[in-house]
Amino acid sequence: MTETLPSTEVAAGVTGWLSAFGDALAAGDPAAAAALFTEDCFWRDLVSFTWNITTLEGRPAIAAMLAETLPRVQPGGWAITAGEEPAEAGGVTEAWFDFETAVGRGRGHLRLRDGLCWTLLTTLDELKGHEERRGPTRPKGVEHRADPARTTWLEDREQEASGLGVTEQPYVLIVGGGQAGIGLGARLRQLRVPAIIVDKRSRPGDQWRSRYKSLCLHDPVWYDHMPYLKFPDHWPVFSPKDKIADWLESYTKIMELNYWPDTEATSAAYDEEAGRWTVAVERDGEPLVLRPAQLVLATGMSGRPNLPDFPGMDTFRGDQHHSSAHPGPGRYRGKRCVVIGSNNSAFDICGALWENAADVTMVQRSSTHIVRSATLMDIGLGGLYSEEAVASGMTTEKADLLFASIPYRIMHLFQIPLYDQMRERDQEFYDRLEAAGFDHDWGDDGSGLFMKYLRRGSGYYIDVGAADMVANGDVALAHGQVDHLTEDAVVLEDGTKLPADLVVYATGYQSMNGWAAELISQEVADKVGKCWGLGSDTTKDPGPWEGEQRNMWKPTQQEALWFHGGNLHQSRHYSLYLALQLKARQAGLATPVYGLQEVHHLR
Ligand SMILES: Cc1cc2nc3c(=O)[nH]c(=O)nc-3n(C[C@H](O)[C@H](O)[C@H](O)COP(=O)(O)OP(=O)(O)OC[C@H]3O[C@@H](n4cnc5c(N)ncnc54)[C@H](O)[C@@H]3O)c2cc1C
Repeated sequence: MTETLPSTEVAAGVTGWLSAFGDALAAGDPAAAAALFTEDCFWRDLVSFTWNITTLEGRPAIAAMLAETLPRVQPGGWAITAGEEPAEAGGVTEAWFDFETAVGRGRGHLRLRDGLCWTLLTTLDELKGHEERRGPTRPKGVEHRADPARTTWLEDREQEASGLGVTEQPYVLIVGGGQAGIGLGARLRQLRVPAIIVDKRSRPGDQWRSRYKSLCLHDPVWYDHMPYLKFPDHWPVFSPKDKIADWLESYTKIMELNYWPDTEATSAAYDEEAGRWTVAVERDGEPLVLRPAQLVLATGMSGRPNLPDFPGMDTFRGDQHHSSAHPGPGRYRGKRCVVIGSNNSAFDICGALWENAADVTMVQRSSTHIVRSATLMDIGLGGLYSEEAVASGMTTEKADLLFASIPYRIMHLFQIPLYDQMRERDQEFYDRLEAAGFDHDWGDDGSGLFMKYLRRGSGYYIDVGAADMVANGDVALAHGQVDHLTEDAVVLEDGTKLPADLVVYATGYQSMNGWAAELISQEVADKVGKCWGLGSDTTKDPGPWEGEQRNMWKPTQQEALWFHGGNLHQSRHYSLYLALQLKARQAGLATPVYGLQEVHHLR
């Protein structure tokens, strides 16, 4: 067993490492800096050194990055974060630290093994001279003096709102006003970047309102906060969809966002010479052209339905729709309902249909990973996002950074033991599921739900009750691929005929670069390539290894085009780095991108 070191010794080890590291960087010596890392090291940088989101693996990659970036980054001030005592367990020392670059201030996290750095996270937290005005620097809100030309907050807001997009062009246009678009909009506002958010729907939150009636967030409240404005502590653990929609709507007001509802972006083209986009929008049915310098597609990772094209769909006489268009169970009482698919939406919809006395069959086409919500909360998320974590002093921001500190290449190694525990705890549940014929998996390497999400964004269900309905036969289970539909049935490849009044295609969503094809051109969509996935060479995440989520929150192969989205946690956390990248460009800072990702897959 490894002995635990006294805390003064642990802190001295970290201080010693930071000081040697700082000296090597100050001396402009990439080789000396790289020698302070273990052979199997990782350095994940969120914008602070590379103006990119990238992970460097191994000493040569670190030395190469430093050789290119050190002269302009000029890092310094490496010090353990005040109030954050380094800790040692199992031979690994973990510590939080602060640092500066020529243009900004950053936060970081490191793990040391035998005095050398195994994992390093560096993140840009703010830009010097462009800090957010909060706490001691918050705006006063009023001038306490006599001023006949005084204007009120409301007058200023109205003037801004009526001029932006008409007499003044926004620097950033965000297409899509879901949680991603408005969270980024809030950050840009605090950074004083003129931005407009457009959404074709009528009210912020409508994307949640339009989803099936029974939907509640599958993630718990501690994981779901928006930037700046936390849910109050009476907020339910799992937000019902209409409640989260109302929260988002209120958020756009409280954060003073320039949010244009009923506004659809219909086309966009980039003028390289002018460095501006020409974006055609229809606002309340009226055409208008916007000329932002930066275009962000926050149009949703779960926004482009992947609707299959089975023979006979045109002859089917019942109701049929993609899960995203499912109205809820009300009108299907007593009807025969066939749901194609066996992931989150499929289970939620099957469960609600069964509760409404429908006759429900789920068609499982490939294996699915299921984890029970309570178990996931306890074992998977509890340490970082839970009431206990909050009580122990864990903040949302710290939890986000800790999660970000684990390099994707080895994240599965951290996850596998957790899923082993989950399997053990719920063995009886999995036995029942499998006995019912459900084809269950734990991910290609046993690493479970998060890795499936990061790699392919699909293939799992967080069980909030519907799995039992499959296990006990309340929801019937069929297996195989769909061959065709008849007027009143779904027919599988093995000839099984499933009579149906309703068919729901819970068949997932398409890659976000499809939005670029729709709005800009196929050429630009192909130029930037597939969004999402790590290149892990596991099911639905083809290699080569890319090390970060493709195209998300970072520069793409198309200048001035950005993708933003993900779950609530990712949208919150990565919106900071996307906002800082946009602010830096607006402020005219040099932002040379190190390691711009290559394109290996088109969709
Ligand atoms: C059934 C379901 C359950 C989910 N549960 C959870 C959960 O529990 N926890 C979690 O964190 N995540 C969950 N997600 C995933 C994710 O959080 C949601 O999909 C979320 O809505 C994504 O937010 P977003 O802002 O990225 O995109 P969206 O909410 O999809 O918003 C995109 C917006 O873009 C607009 N838009 C698109 N094209 C245009 C255009 N040309 N012009 C103008 N506007 C346009 C759309 O109208 C839409 O409002 C779930 C997703 C689904 C489908």
